[in-house]
Amino acid sequence: MTGYQLIHHGAACGVTGSCHELRLGADGDFQDSLLVDCGLVQGEEAVSLGPLPWRRVGALVLTHAHLDHIGRLPELCQAGWRGPVYCSEATAALVPLMLADGLLQQGRSRGWVAAFLADLQRQLRPLPFGAWHRVALSAQQAVHLQLQPAGHILGSASITVRLAEGQRLVFSGDIGGGNSSLLRPPVSPAAADLLVLESTYGDRLHPAVAQRHQALRQVVERSLRDGGAILIPAFSIGRTQELLSDLEQILCEVQATGQQSQWQELPVVLDSPLGAQVTRLYRQFRRHWRREAQQKLGQGRHPLDFSQAVTLAEHGAHLEFIARLQATGEPVIVVAGGGMCQGGRIVDYLRALSPDPRTDVLLCGFQARGTPGALLQVGVERLWLDGQSVPVAAQIHRLSGYSAHADQAGLIEFVAGMASPPKAIRLVHGEPEAQRALAKALRQAFPGLAVDCAAQQDCP
Ligand SMILES: [Zn+2]
Repeated sequence: MTGYQLIHHGAACGVTGSCHELRLGADGDFQDSLLVDCGLVQGEEAVSLGPLPWRRVGALVLTHAHLDHIGRLPELCQAGWRGPVYCSEATAALVPLMLADGLLQQGRSRGWVAAFLADLQRQLRPLPFGAWHRVALSAQQAVHLQLQPAGHILGSASITVRLAEGQRLVFSGDIGGGNSSLLRPPVSPAAADLLVLESTYGDRLHPAVAQRHQALRQVVERSLRDGGAILIPAFSIGRTQELLSDLEQILCEVQATGQQSQWQELPVVLDSPLGAQVTRLYRQFRRHWRREAQQKLGQGRHPLDFSQAVTLAEHGAHLEFIARLQATGEPVIVVAGGGMCQGGRIVDYLRALSPDPRTDVLLCGFQARGTPGALLQVGVERLWLDGQSVPVAAQIHRLSGYSAHADQAGLIEFVAGMASPPKAIRLVHGEPEAQRALAKALRQAFPGLAVDCAAQQDCP
């Protein structure tokens, strides 16, 4: 009889570096592995990781295209691994974009990246949601995989792995909070002998987000009174598209009133080459949108392609546009790449426009400690940007409701939505406190359920 071992090569003690190895074998001899995600460890969690066990890995399956879930794929391939990489269809389209961006930032040449991506294309095996697919890990071992939408970013999936004897292991991946204006809410798996569940916000409840776009509207209206640019630093995948879709909703509501308003002339500028490429994929995979967003298409609207939306691609146009804003102070909304203001095109905007008191900066994403975004959030008088100290006179606003992760209640709902309750849960992808708090909440919600945390005493 086949048995299994589960090894966490990352995301056991924190929220990055997701990489779980499911080893299969019989009689205590586990020779064949399925790797679930292959992510980079990022930020303050950075620790040196051991080599990946690539010789044993028969196949890799990816939950979604964030770098902390796919970023070690080049390392795996460079070691000589040429196995199949399973993921959803949209993830297969996003992975080359995200890896290319990461590799170029690490200083890899364009030629090297192009050659790597050409090899990777031969390894990618896109799977539709819902269908079962047989995956051979070796001549002896095979499993069946099923992907279900996880509502976190485009293409994100939770993965059910069915072993030969019928046991099911589910890897939740990152689960969305159900607050996306574009994507369908997460789908709970039917059953699991073991559910490997993320716990990023396992100790938190997000504020209610029913009227997220109304809060955005109020901030923009206040900023419009004194002119100047409204700068929104945004991650290229997910946040950028959610913001565009909310802005389109506001523009539509304003138009419906029939009154003259500054909104009607307000350009919405997307200044992020990666953000623009990802937005094209969000448009291409509109079949994964939630019903409300699809209905807008039927009404002749387009949440990601509307008349006031402008995309800046060329670097020259980007610099010229900033010089123009500096000279004229004209009102505009800019959604720019670089969610934590550490890199990306937002840095040029902040350097030029944060000394101007008419500028407004809207922060709607997580700002990691020590980043310029976190410093803006607490309110600093000067900011260090690209080796230059810049005075900050801009108004800073914080917008909630844009988290791409479920909170504690959402995670419990994901479990409660299963047709039959899981036999056991292993918590991963969370700080130790978040894992412990979620474990306690799950035991209260489902008495008798076995819950354990990947975070153990040896977490740093
Ligand atoms: Zn993610």
